[in-house]
Amino acid sequence: MKLQNEKITGGKLKGRTAVVTGASRGIGRAIALRLAAEGAAVAVNYRGSKERAEEVKAQIDQAGGKAILFPCDVADFSACESFFKEAIEQLGRLDILVNNAGITRDGLLMRMSEEDYDAVLDTNLKGTFHCIRFAARQMLKQKSGRIINISSVSGVLGNAGQANYSASKAGVIGLTKSAARELASRGITVNAIAPGFVNTEMTEGLSEKVRASAEAQIPLGKFGEPEDVAEAAVFLASQGAGYITGQVLHVDGGMAM
Ligand code: NDP
Repeated sequence: MKLQNEKITGGKLKGRTAVVTGASRGIGRAIALRLAAEGAAVAVNYRGSKERAEEVKAQIDQAGGKAILFPCDVADFSACESFFKEAIEQLGRLDILVNNAGITRDGLLMRMSEEDYDAVLDTNLKGTFHCIRFAARQMLKQKSGRIINISSVSGVLGNAGQANYSASKAGVIGLTKSAARELASRGITVNAIAPGFVNTEMTEGLSEKVRASAEAQIPLGKFGEPEDVAEAAVFLASQGAGYITGQVLHVDGGMAM
């Protein structure tokens, strides 16, 4: 899907506001662009890639949308508190939170360092908890909201060499279901998307051999694109998904079924 020159004139998320974590590149970038293309004002979060995040903002601005930039390490509890306070002040309200920020530090279990285990859990799982914690405060006041957490097929099926990552992404699914149960009575839905292999910087380092063996496990026979995941996020954020909560939507070419 071409987002480059798409003019934002209306859309199914007109008047809504969103925070997307890890939106400087890859899947988060595609989600921020699609939410903006549907009319949402978007807070673009990133950790270090300032220039990449500025490009995302510029693309949204050029298309007639609204984006604001927020550097914040989602693994940092108090930094997240300030981030959400400021984002909500600037956006006026918060309708959609997409917890997308994530990292990998792959390695076989027997050789995995404590540092690599903790770093992945801190960003992928604890970071998701932090953002839900501070976003939900505002959504509870509004008595409405959509929370979308990016999990992974690795969290559903497991993956050799990704014990830390799989644990974090399985944790995201448990967190999603508990949050869905806690927040449902206040009009807030919480769902997860579990992408399979998607063409981003996270997967570009895979060797030809690993890529070929991954493709052999995908019924649709190819890696997905960031926009495939963005479409699912737009759906879960839209009016039409209002009766869906606590679910895991697999966007993986059929890997987990
Ligand atoms: P990329 O590596 O391309 O991008 C990761 C993004 O997360 C960047 O914007 C990065 O910011 C941000 N980020 C990383 N750590 C932090 C942090 N501590 N605080 C704030 N932002 C952070 O990853 P993908 O786009 O491939 O992945 C996005 C999500 O989708 C992740 O949760 C990933 O686990 C999940 N996923 C990806 C799959 C794939 O095949 N690509 C498959 C299944 C799930 P910066 O640029 O500033 O570093």
